[in-house]
Amino acid sequence: MNGLRYASLDRNSLRGCRMQEYQLYIDGEFVPAKSGKTVDSINPATEEPWARVARAGREDTQRAIKAARTAFDSGPWARTSQQDRAKILNDIADRLQARAQEIAVVETQDSGGTIRKTGGDLMLANAQLRYFAEMAEQVPLLTEIQVPQFPAQSTNFVQREPFGVCGQIIPWNFPLMMAVWKIGPALATGNTVVIKPATDTPCSLLELAKIIDESDLPTGVVNVVHGSGAECGEELCTSPMVDKIAFTGSTAVGSRIMQLAAGTVKKVTLELGGKSANIILDDADLDMAIDGSLFGCFFHQGQACESGTRLLVSDAKHDEVVARLVERTRQINCGDPLDMMSAQGPLISAKQRETVEGYIKKGVEDGATIAVGGGRPAGLPKGYYVEPTILTGVRNQMTVAQEEIFGPVLVVIRYKDIDDAIKIANDSIYGLGGAVWSRDDDKAMEVAKRVRTGTMWINEYHMLSVAAPFGGYKQSGIGREFGMEGLLEYMQIKHIHLDQVRNRAGKFWYGALFGA
Ligand code: NAD
Ligand code: MN
Repeated sequence: MNGLRYASLDRNSLRGCRMQEYQLYIDGEFVPAKSGKTVDSINPATEEPWARVARAGREDTQRAIKAARTAFDSGPWARTSQQDRAKILNDIADRLQARAQEIAVVETQDSGGTIRKTGGDLMLANAQLRYFAEMAEQVPLLTEIQVPQFPAQSTNFVQREPFGVCGQIIPWNFPLMMAVWKIGPALATGNTVVIKPATDTPCSLLELAKIIDESDLPTGVVNVVHGSGAECGEELCTSPMVDKIAFTGSTAVGSRIMQLAAGTVKKVTLELGGKSANIILDDADLDMAIDGSLFGCFFHQGQACESGTRLLVSDAKHDEVVARLVERTRQINCGDPLDMMSAQGPLISAKQRETVEGYIKKGVEDGATIAVGGGRPAGLPKGYYVEPTILTGVRNQMTVAQEEIFGPVLVVIRYKDIDDAIKIANDSIYGLGGAVWSRDDDKAMEVAKRVRTGTMWINEYHMLSVAAPFGGYKQSGIGREFGMEGLLEYMQIKHIHLDQVRNRAGKFWYGALFGA
């Protein structure tokens, strides 16, 4: 294939490059780990290390937490005006925009995400940062509320203030964008941050740290520690100096984090796994629904939390839909993620590929049929690739329909009628995304209302909006990101009562203690 190189990149010059080096970002400085440890980041497309990254342990994490604590308690950030916060966030966005292509290339090498995808992520992350900047000025800091004027007579306010030090833990599937979803709202509302990238994908976030370092953000407000969940992550969740944990990742780890955070009663928000239902109604425009459903599942090799991984189709339409899905899936091009022609890159790691292949095998053992894919794409001897795969004959009780696979595997489940489709959609421990395809808006709205999930698209998939709340029902999470709802997750609520009875005689309720 004659690949269009992104930003006129030359593969050979990249190959010949010496390893990139990254350090931790603590208290406004780029530093090695105290232990001196580093870990090599593997490029999933070449299976070769491409960057060497300092590996934080507990001590480094404690130092980062202390820096964020001091920056919050004694630094100017918590008291910086809303306008100045917005200005700094917009300045970070400007600097990110200027380096977007370069950072997309970094992230593609670090994560295996195609350059089409990482380039898009950088663009979105930028727009999202600007939205958070705008919201920084709109968050209501002091609101007067009305309360009953008996027994006391008073004027009442709700004051919103930053939570304090936020420990933020993110996954590898959208490394830079997830960081922006965490750092953006935390900064917009005056918090300080210690953020831990996933161990496989620290580099684009450490590039963002360089940008933050050049900005006017006060020292210690953002700290980045790259380290394991067991050391770094658990230190964040248990430290008494951390006020809030914001986590995005698997449900299993989310549950563990909630337990760890319980010890010091931290505020916790969790964005977890999914197994979302994508429902094609009989009156759907199939040209749109077929491609939309494949986009909904196979985008980023199926490594998106709210992917539509269970496709629900009626008995009547089943064979036609499957035939068309298979035909279109065969046209999806797997290959070098730095190549603009590649629609699908490798999975994040050999381990993840093993997991995904294990699920395909389990599906077949349980009675499903591989309609397309199921193996590794031909002609790609290196890289953790898995073909886009469709399993048919799947019943919702099967493991492949209940568990999150996190790879390019779409399962097709038949339904009898709309009630049956909704029952199947809701028969899941998860409730993160979902979609319904129909030409009838009213009918589609009814279905959207009845699915127990945090986001439903009608005739679309994956189109999240930074201004609309995003989050999970059931075991898909707690709390919301985006929108005003998402910002308020980063704010404490204080009630201030200003009493209007200005003399002792008027305060008759003291009689409870002193008698009438
Ligand atoms: P993961 O749960 O394995 O890891 C996520 C993060 O948690 C990583 O940084 C990891 O190092 C850290 N971690 C691991 N163990 C920890 C511990 N004991 N204490 C503290 N931190 C710990 O998830 P992953 O494999 O990196 O990402 C994939 C998962 O993320 C999928 O389940 C996916 O659905 C979910 N996800 C959810 C959303 C959402 O918004 N709901 C978005 C993206 C990904
Ligand atoms: Mn990597």
